[in-house]
Amino acid sequence: MWLRSRLQLVPVFAAVATVALGLFTVPDSGGPTSAGSARSSGTSRPDTRGVVLAVHGGAGSALIREETSPEKEKAYRDGLAGALRAGQKVLRGGGSSVDAVEAAVRALEDNELFNAGKGAVFNEDAGHELDASIMRGSDQAAGAVAAVRNVRNPISAARLVMEKSRHVLMVGEGADDFAERHGLKPVTQDYYWTQRRWDALMKAKNPGRPQTKASRAEDEQAMGTVGAVAVDRRRDLAAATSTGGLTNKLAGRVGDSPIIGAGTYAKNDTVAASATGQGEVFIRGAATATISNLIEFDDMDVTSAAREVLIERLPRLGGDGGVIALGPDGEFAAPHSSQGLLHGYLTADGTIVTKIFLDESPPGARGR
Ligand code: ASP
Repeated sequence: MWLRSRLQLVPVFAAVATVALGLFTVPDSGGPTSAGSARSSGTSRPDTRGVVLAVHGGAGSALIREETSPEKEKAYRDGLAGALRAGQKVLRGGGSSVDAVEAAVRALEDNELFNAGKGAVFNEDAGHELDASIMRGSDQAAGAVAAVRNVRNPISAARLVMEKSRHVLMVGEGADDFAERHGLKPVTQDYYWTQRRWDALMKAKNPGRPQTKASRAEDEQAMGTVGAVAVDRRRDLAAATSTGGLTNKLAGRVGDSPIIGAGTYAKNDTVAASATGQGEVFIRGAATATISNLIEFDDMDVTSAAREVLIERLPRLGGDGGVIALGPDGEFAAPHSSQGLLHGYLTADGTIVTKIFLDESPPGARGR
């Protein structure tokens, strides 16, 4: 009996040792792999190891180094790094991965460069409806809001749904009221008004209208959904995603971002994942839940599973985009079939890396 209970403890010690190594050292960065090798072997070299927090600022066309002013480059890198620092502060103070992803996404929601919160895109009726979700890997608790119109930080409303209601997804007026009743100060629709999103709406409504180089570049970033994934000291995973949706979408349209298993998923033994791209396809392909299932049932590693879904399966359904995926041991991948995926990550030694240019994160590759 004594021996049996001791033997049962061996895997626990091994797991604790693995976590300690995975979280507190930063081993190598791997080299590129082909799409085919991920499928056949079920193991691929990840983008990076030792990651504790990662964020994305949406999929779309990549920023081209030669056409990007130093000011614009700085603004995007600062935006992603600022979100990582907000989450880092939480993790350093012993906060949970849920606290960290909420803090990181709130920072991105408050930055009008990104299509979430303040920078949300316009619907076809020139209004704004925002979607967000959050998931805790330890018990698969989740919360989400969709089509909210008066919440400054939808990710905090999603967390309130997770923690203060019996529900997972709340929509529209009911969700706005719920958020206000639980202490989130409402904003009016004009809070979300920005010139660049207005120009993008006008462009979408008049596609033939001649464009300046600047407005073309802004339009290229029109996706711009944000998300975060994290693992904390207890090895608990969490994921969060927030968006204004798609420019010129029908009022009432809901994308993948607030759908658990499509835009967001976290399960402690497998992965925390946040997606961005053509939401309808990510819903039909159950994108982030499929990544988790491939890890759990097909014995794939995080990188192979994320690549399989983003590079192989979703394009066959007719959509492109990207995902940030983080395993409990710090394995991180950011594959994308869209041209670009703005993203950044923080490793356990405190290093922050941001990737915004095409040459830093080529499509179909691992986002290096
Ligand atoms: N996935 C988001 C949606 O369909 C859009 C995006 O990621 O850019 O609402």
